[in-house]
Amino acid sequence: MQLSIYDTLQRRVVPLTTERAGEVRMYTCGPTVYRPAHLGNLRSYLLADWIRRTLEYFGNTVVAVKNITDVGHMRQDAVERGEDKVIAAALAEGKTPKQIAEFYEARFHEDERRLGILPATRFPRATDHVPEMISIIERLIARGLAYEVEGAVYFAVKRFAGYGKLSGNVGEALRQGVRGEIDPDKHDPVDFALWKKAEAGRALTWESPWGRGFPGWHIECSAMSTKYLGERFDLHTGGVDNIFPHHEDEIAQSEGAYGHPSVRHWVHGQHLLADGVKMAKSARNTVTIDDLVELDVDPLAFRYLCLLTHYRTRMQFSHGALRQAAEALDHLRQRVRHWSQVPQGELTHTALDARWLEPFGRALADDLNLPAAVAWLQRCAIDRAISDTERLAVFLEADKVLGLDLASVASEHAKAPRDVIASIEEHRVARAARDFQRADDLRAAFNGYRVEDQAADRAVLSRGDLRVPARERKTISSAKEVPDRRGEAPTRSWTVGIVTREYPADLARCLKGVLAFLPADGEVFVLDSGSRAEVQAKIGDIAAPDGRVEVYFADRDLGEGAARNALVRLARGRMVLMLDCSVEITGDLFGPLAQVLADGGVGQAGPWGLRTSDLKHFDEVTSGGTEAVQGYCAAARREVLLEIGGFDERYRFYRNLDIAVSLAIRERGYRVMAVGAGCARRHAHRVWESLSEDERLKRSRRNFDRMYRRFHGKPVLITESDEVGRSPD
Ligand code: AMP
Ligand code: ZN
Repeated sequence: MQLSIYDTLQRRVVPLTTERAGEVRMYTCGPTVYRPAHLGNLRSYLLADWIRRTLEYFGNTVVAVKNITDVGHMRQDAVERGEDKVIAAALAEGKTPKQIAEFYEARFHEDERRLGILPATRFPRATDHVPEMISIIERLIARGLAYEVEGAVYFAVKRFAGYGKLSGNVGEALRQGVRGEIDPDKHDPVDFALWKKAEAGRALTWESPWGRGFPGWHIECSAMSTKYLGERFDLHTGGVDNIFPHHEDEIAQSEGAYGHPSVRHWVHGQHLLADGVKMAKSARNTVTIDDLVELDVDPLAFRYLCLLTHYRTRMQFSHGALRQAAEALDHLRQRVRHWSQVPQGELTHTALDARWLEPFGRALADDLNLPAAVAWLQRCAIDRAISDTERLAVFLEADKVLGLDLASVASEHAKAPRDVIASIEEHRVARAARDFQRADDLRAAFNGYRVEDQAADRAVLSRGDLRVPARERKTISSAKEVPDRRGEAPTRSWTVGIVTREYPADLARCLKGVLAFLPADGEVFVLDSGSRAEVQAKIGDIAAPDGRVEVYFADRDLGEGAARNALVRLARGRMVLMLDCSVEITGDLFGPLAQVLADGGVGQAGPWGLRTSDLKHFDEVTSGGTEAVQGYCAAARREVLLEIGGFDERYRFYRNLDIAVSLAIRERGYRVMAVGAGCARRHAHRVWESLSEDERLKRSRRNFDRMYRRFHGKPVLITESDEVGRSPD
């Protein structure tokens, strides 16, 4: 495939063409090493990395050069004024600018490594290339494009016809662009310095034909790009702030010296903003990779975050968004672990390539549309038509471009120490034998690895340091403590509400089905109604990976009615599906439910309905109008739930509460519909099973009496006049 990309000079998306077939020579403006790189700088380097990986993925060889600016911006006076605290500290320790540059250069390489940025083929330093810069300046003087004044050399902008073609800065715009610089030696204020005379006491100076001095700010990139990539190379990248003056001046220098264009394509990445303005040291809004590590955030979460915004779009940085990205990455890694540790299915590469990787490649080829490429992979992650083994193959292949290091996640199990594997195996056996004490004791021997118990015979292992720390748990003591959004208009299609109490594996199964079919703008609230602490921790872990799920933990059993009402308070969906953990969604249930609920006369719907003629005996039905919907899986329009005043909180146990809700809805004149059980499956109801016969009777009886007293004799039963769309049979 061929990459098409927005060329700043041509002002449109063009196929990226190269000087030599199958080889791309690219240059990226690298860091100024007198301070740590911030996330804004790194967004630009990530862009260069993704372009390079894409080009390689498409079968090209790439020669990548990224310069290290260790002179030019480092004016000695600025250093002495102590403008940079670290430099000031370094000076206090008796360090030289060279040592400072070495320190930050090493740190820069470390930052790139932590972000998964492939090392450039070469990292030339400006200070090692002063002779090359001098020779270009000499050429420019010889060609009449530069002039010397008192030991300084300037580029005569007006003598270079193409000046302004990259940035569009010509005429008045150009004068505005260079405003503020007052240098009496320049013939014209728009000219720029190629060489400067050294002021007394300056640390970094070189001999030159014009006396002792140091190079201007732009000449290094002309010198180093053409030295390592040739007078004509293919691609030059940087951030948009580089367009003027840096790259405009680079074009003037290189083209002026060689007499022909040097760069085939110019590509610029948009800025990273923080608090609404460009991230920059001067704005005091910078964040570094070290800052992320300090906050316990994996640097690759920033890489993941950047994948989600197209490179030509400004990107707002926030710690909230970063945490969400960290959780999404954690979720993806967990998936990869499942796919690699519990493998199943065959591998057929040709089918995979055509179905999944080609569209992935097309998204990349289309102006490096990484957000679209990632969205496509997300579909692959849940598509039922392919096996986990195949999914893993797709993701590992795609990750050659994404660079999230999924390969090392896939090999965590294989690389785990033998004694850890042995304790995990023993743990599994202990669990299978229901020796939970022994199983729990063995966790101590996992040595930094985490184990997620699946069904009785399976466990998935992960490196603890590659997991997001469990989200801080906020505990509530009453349903009234959750945010009350009942007065707000709905902003989502669906809210799924789940009340849990113990049995985390059931929640995991239930949530998996929900997340596979929930529309993208849907949200899920889990309210844990007083599970034991270790179970709450597990529930937090199960819910954490998907940003759409939010969990609230109650410090006690709030009672079924109150717990459901907490979910109603939180819901932002136009429709609310109340779900019990015993239910597994196995198909697109949301579509049929939405369709039925679109009818304003219908108040509630679910797979399983309950018909009754006396409020004492109930028969389950799966189609048509009914008196009630089984509460294991019942959907209603949010406004209808609000109209009936939510759930009756006197029902502390779940039984008959569902009937009471349905009847309240019918009392208001709405129809209640069963839509069929093709997309949902019921498993054992653990709470019910855990109760003794006696306890079941007692609790059910109380709720039944309450329900019966309330609705007996009320207009809730289906009558002949009831306009119910019964099934055709
Ligand atoms: P500097 O070290 O300031 O020369 O910048 C190194 C690279 O980072 C250049 O390509 C800049 O265009 C880029 N850059 C600087 N600030 C930002 C930002 N806030 N967002 C994106 N790129 C940036
Ligand atoms: Zn540059």
